[in-house]
Order: sequence, then structure tokens, then C-alpha cells
Amino acid sequence: MKLNSIKKIGRSDFVNMGPIKLRQPIPTQDIELVDPFVLLHHYGPYPISEFNNPFDLGPHPHRGFEPITFLIQGEQLHRDSLGNESVVNAGDVQWTTAGRGIVHAEGPTKAFIKKGGELEGIQLWLNLPSEKKMMPANYQHVKNDDFLVVSSENSKVNIQVIAGELNGTNGRIGTQTSVNAYIIDIEEGGEFNLPVPKDHQSIVYLLNGEVTINDTESLALNNKQMVWFNQDGDGFSLEGKSKSKLLFLSGTPINEPISSYGPYVMNTQTEIMEAMRDYQSGKMGFLTV
Ligand code: MN
Repeated sequence: MKLNSIKKIGRSDFVNMGPIKLRQPIPTQDIELVDPFVLLHHYGPYPISEFNNPFDLGPHPHRGFEPITFLIQGEQLHRDSLGNESVVNAGDVQWTTAGRGIVHAEGPTKAFIKKGGELEGIQLWLNLPSEKKMMPANYQHVKNDDFLVVSSENSKVNIQVIAGELNGTNGRIGTQTSVNAYIIDIEEGGEFNLPVPKDHQSIVYLLNGEVTINDTESLALNNKQMVWFNQDGDGFSLEGKSKSKLLFLSGTPINEPISSYGPYVMNTQTEIMEAMRDYQSGKMGFLTV
């Protein structure tokens, strides 16, 4: 395998979002965008209890992209204007295609708040090409146990295929564009050569632990957590220096102008104004508090 060279190493510093402090590897001053991925948030682990529950997002709209949640720890309640209401457990993935508009709300379940525990997740904003920005909204919820896993020979590396494909194994999520998304668990000493399609941009993000990429670059929490690869090889190599968890994402770049404001990702400023107006007039649906 010819290794993809490293384009940039990303930090994952904390930013403040209202009362919530979370890590934001995309965008940063250094990495504005990894087309088609416009935003990556890593929240938690937060200790949630009846006395501490900042991560409760009330009803809010989206248009023009796909907001995706990978829940790592905890339990959330999802509700949306399509009429979906579901409990999302650790390891589950919620893949929302906002398209022309959806209103959703999510936060820890009442039972989880009462019981208390750690909440941790990834929120990803995957852009849609202009011809799909106004498609009807859609919601996919796939449970942890329903994803297929690709393992290394010694089973020290286990890769859950969320979307796209890995070595002939397909993800359970249906995608609008060519995208691969995997959750990777590595034991200490585990090794894997991960293939990346030539026409995909790709990143690997460290959630916890410590790994070596391409035998040269070490990723560790609170230091360097993300690698953005050039499209000049067939993939990259991973080695666990301790028990680690990572998110891998790759996708075909959309290569269109982006105009984004608040919860909308469109191509032009005019489309942003239309989105605001359409939400106000109820065209994205309703959800009671
Ligand atoms: Mn949202």
C-alpha cells in the first residue's frame, strides 16, 4: 500500500457553545474545512446528573446538509418534525438528512439524568451538493449492534462500518454522496492498513488513547488528535500504542461555494435568507418543546 502523506495535523481545542464546552477540530484557524465535512464537534465525556445537565438542545432547524451524531457514551432522546421519537444508546448513529428543512431536539433521557453517567458523542456536519440541498428531509437511526465489523487477524483492531464500504463490508447507513465513516477500536499493539478511495478527502480523529499513523506521527488526547491526509496514496497505517478509539471519515469533495449561517449550510447568502424566512413561516415543520 502506498501511504497517503499527511496534509495537516489538527488540534482539538475546547470552544464554548452557550453553556457547553466542547472540542472543535473542524473548523479551526488552521483547518477551515475538509470538504465535504464542514464541522466536527466532540462533546464530553461530561458527567450528567440531575444537578448538571447542560447538554439539552431544544427544538432547532437545519437546512442544506446532513447533521450526524455518533453517540459514544450515555443515552439521548431524539425528536424531530418528521414525527420520529427514539432513544439513542451508546454506539448508535443518527444520520439526519436535513435537506430542505427539519426541526429536531435532543438531550439525555430523563432516566439517564436520574441515574447519572457519562455523556460523550461526535456531531458531524456533512455538506450536501447544491442539487440535494432542497431534497425532502430524512432520518436514519442505526443501533450499535446492527453495524458490521471488520477485524484484523488477531482481533486487536475492530472497525465498525457505519457508512460506505471497507474491504467488501458495507455500512448500514444510506448516503447521499460517496462517504465512508468508521468507528475504530484498537488494542495496544493492534495494527491495520486502512484503504482510502483515491477520490476521497480523508481524516482520522482520535477520541481517546494513543496511536501512531504511518509509523511516524503520534496522536494523543490534548495534543494532536486529527490527521488530514493528502490524496496521493491508497490509504494509511494505524498502530495502537494503548487502547484507543478513533473516528475515520472520507468523502468526495463537493467543490462548491459555501454560505453558512447558524444552523444552515447553503451555497449563497440569498439562500441563507430564504432558509431563515422559511423556518420562521413554518416550512421546515414544527416540534413542541
Ligand atoms: Mn441539530
